[in-house]
Amino acid sequence: MGTVRNIVILTGAGISAESGIDTFRSAGGLWEQHRVEDVATPEAFARDPELVLRFYDMRRAAIQEKLPNPAHFALAELDAKWKGGLLIVTQNVDDLHTRAGARRVLHMHGEHLKAWCTSCDVRSHWRGPLIERPPCPVCQARTLRPDVVWFGEIPYRMGEIYAALREADLFVSIGTSGAVYPAAGLVRNARDLGIATLELNLERSQGSDWFHESRQGPASALVPQWVEEILAK
Ligand code: NAD
Repeated sequence: MGTVRNIVILTGAGISAESGIDTFRSAGGLWEQHRVEDVATPEAFARDPELVLRFYDMRRAAIQEKLPNPAHFALAELDAKWKGGLLIVTQNVDDLHTRAGARRVLHMHGEHLKAWCTSCDVRSHWRGPLIERPPCPVCQARTLRPDVVWFGEIPYRMGEIYAALREADLFVSIGTSGAVYPAAGLVRNARDLGIATLELNLERSQGSDWFHESRQGPASALVPQWVEEILAK
């Protein structure tokens, strides 16, 4: 690997697993007999909004009880100390990167702690439940939904992600299964651009073969170790 100036990091559910937040694929990927993929779609919301709102209300409440783990703190330290370009692109809808102190974070799949009003298109900070159909704080319409990108919807800010990748010398993927696109395709975009690629994941993932280097182990151990290495260079 040559000199590294600009880094793009992609994180997935695996980085929050040791904080006690289930990955979708743990526990068989089922929620109350529903495949998670069937709860997290616009079709599911149209068919059975109560089910979908209940699912997200539960998860929104749960993440507020959880704390960042050493992997989130290590990335926050990297963010504070890294003088070059850095973008932490997260697929996670929890707020643990931010709570650990990271600032250069992009939520490509939205955020649990925001509600999106489909009438006035404004996104508001939100901590409570949505099941009772509370009014939008801006336009009062009772049309709030979780500000989470569902399967079949287009992730946020892809232009910014590709722009950061074009400037990057290193792409690092942490705790993601390589199953959800377009996030899973970023390693191939990085390879096409000639960028060094590193994977840190509990086990080999569907995308492992695309990386120049793949390290296996828990994020709470691998991430602090890698951050120490890169800051020492
Ligand atoms: P995923 O559930 O498909 O995969 C998680 C990956 O993390 C797996 O490859 C697993 O081996 C690995 N992993 C599990 N524990 C780990 C640990 N302790 N250390 C390192 N790696 C570990 O998750 P995904 O790839 O992020 O894709 C699923 C989609 O669901 C994404 O959109 C994701 O953001 C969303 N999701 C988000 C959250 C959250 O916000 N915390 C939780 C569940 C799912």
